[in-house]
Amino acid sequence: MSDQKSGQKSGQKTRTNLVHGGTRRSQYGEVSEAIFLTQGFVYETAAQAEGRFEALGEDEFIYARYGNPTVRMFEERIALLEGAEDAFATASGMAAVNAALVAPLKAGDHVVASRALFGSCEYILSEILVRFGVEVDFVDGTDLSAWKAAIRPDTKLVFFEALSNPTLEVIDIRGVSELAHAVGALVVVDNVFATPIFQRSLELGADVIVYSATKHIDGQGRVLGGVVLGRRDFIRKTLEPYLKHTGGAMSPFNAWVLLKGLETLDLRCRAQAENADKVARALVGHEKVAAVLYPGLPDHPQHNLALAQMEKPGTMVSFEIRGGKEAAFRFLDALEVVVISNNLGDAKSIITHPATTTHQRLSDEKKAALGITPGLVRLSLGIEDGEDILADVMRALEMA
Ligand SMILES: *Cc1c(COP(=O)(O)O)cnc(C)c1O
Repeated sequence: MSDQKSGQKSGQKTRTNLVHGGTRRSQYGEVSEAIFLTQGFVYETAAQAEGRFEALGEDEFIYARYGNPTVRMFEERIALLEGAEDAFATASGMAAVNAALVAPLKAGDHVVASRALFGSCEYILSEILVRFGVEVDFVDGTDLSAWKAAIRPDTKLVFFEALSNPTLEVIDIRGVSELAHAVGALVVVDNVFATPIFQRSLELGADVIVYSATKHIDGQGRVLGGVVLGRRDFIRKTLEPYLKHTGGAMSPFNAWVLLKGLETLDLRCRAQAENADKVARALVGHEKVAAVLYPGLPDHPQHNLALAQMEKPGTMVSFEIRGGKEAAFRFLDALEVVVISNNLGDAKSIITHPATTTHQRLSDEKKAALGITPGLVRLSLGIEDGEDILADVMRALEMA
């Protein structure tokens, strides 16, 4: 599947595009992409400046809030990976989500979103959009009949994480997109957990994809970044005016780090997915573990959908430790290879206790509805040797 993605240079495969795609070489012929750490650009004449403000040509830039050569390389490389016509890079994943939601909406519009969301995405939908007069309904994203009931003739946009945080529910992109497109609504997918390597969301029907590049795309815990991908008219006519005037631009330095991240993204995601599979299978039936949430397991409620929609079931495993918060904390504290943090998609394996950190803000009722129990832990598999991760997890479970 990864060998025949649409939108790529003819004949070139994913891993080639991740290394070479979008490269712009200066007159020096540098091997590694240049960091154009400049906010602005000098014009040879006043007339040239006037012309650029009228219309930008290829390789023409005005101001780094609008675009920059290093940032453009990152945008073109990831657009090639995703098979998208165009992309706009942002300062963080949340700047990308905010722009993708706010730019196309106005007061009076109706939005349907899945309820299992990253906390800040939920905040934009339920606090910010609502304050500006957008009506937002939340549904159980795994239930197509709930989407069907909630989507109205005047629904303008639907939003969901195709693989949800932290309970790893899988949402049917094709099914939801068909329902949304029947009323002309825009389908915006936050694809962070599924990764651009394992899920081709645009081909499945999504109109717009957003990423926190902070996660797998950097993958080494260094910088914040985000990107919105989609059709050229959406990116240039709807999104770009909003972003360039509100200032969510990506730093050229961060774009350079993320370009380097893209070069190894496929290799890292595959190594992480292999470790996820190994750990998930070993946890099944363990006496200290009440449940394993991983779409690659046959008893996962959306296992067949995951197999159909994703090339691999991802790089994350969540599981419920018997004994609640105290047992979960004992487990976290006993880990030696796996670090306690709240990032994900990193080269280092990371463990998170969602109820007390990433999802602390939610009420107890909301946590219960989303399955964020006191014993739930979320493991983001890194690229370490799988045997070492497994031994660490098994040893720490004995202490739980
Ligand atoms: C991390 C994350 C974001 C936000 O990204 P930042 O880069 O931290 O701003 C949005 N959605 C999902 C699913 C995430 O995991």
